[in-house]
Amino acid sequence: MKQDENNFFASNVALRATRKYKKEGNIMSDIMRMGRNPNYLGTWDIDELPNKEATLTIEKIVDEKVVDTLTGKDKMETLCYWTDSAFKPMILNITNKKRISKLYKTKDTEKLKGKSVIIGIEKVKAFGDIYEVLRIQTRMPKVTNAVKPKCEKCGKDINGAGNMSPEETASYTKKKYGKAMCSACATKAAKAVQS
Ligand SMILES: [Zn+2]
Repeated sequence: MKQDENNFFASNVALRATRKYKKEGNIMSDIMRMGRNPNYLGTWDIDELPNKEATLTIEKIVDEKVVDTLTGKDKMETLCYWTDSAFKPMILNITNKKRISKLYKTKDTEKLKGKSVIIGIEKVKAFGDIYEVLRIQTRMPKVTNAVKPKCEKCGKDINGAGNMSPEETASYTKKKYGKAMCSACATKAAKAVQS
């Protein structure tokens, strides 16, 4: 009896949810965009992250030809590359361009280099359907120490080593080897000293 009641309740909730869904239009989990261009950041990349957000630092913003994998046609798009190369570049639409400019009060792509943004997923209505899209969030990321010290040997970012922060690693290697180094270069330098 109890089980039946629960089932009845559950199916009722499900029914109401379906009705609400229909009223609002079908939520498309970006299937239209999926596979269209897996070379660029999509909602599916962010969807699998905790909090469904990513805080990324802008490496550069450039116009590039993007080939639509479905039609084979290319189109000029504005791409935002991230310092974390584990994340694919993101195609910036006008809304996201405006959000970045507003967040940092500049349209100058040179000034935007090294700035961090939070990327999230928002639902937008278009053509009677609801789509999930990538959106730069309007709030400022909490961690703003985005610019890491650069390795004076290879030019790459210096990351933390062991329990040292990137800054500590830079000053430690500078003191020891005369140049601020990333851990790869510092390892090479250490070997050179030994031999
Ligand atoms: Zn290096």
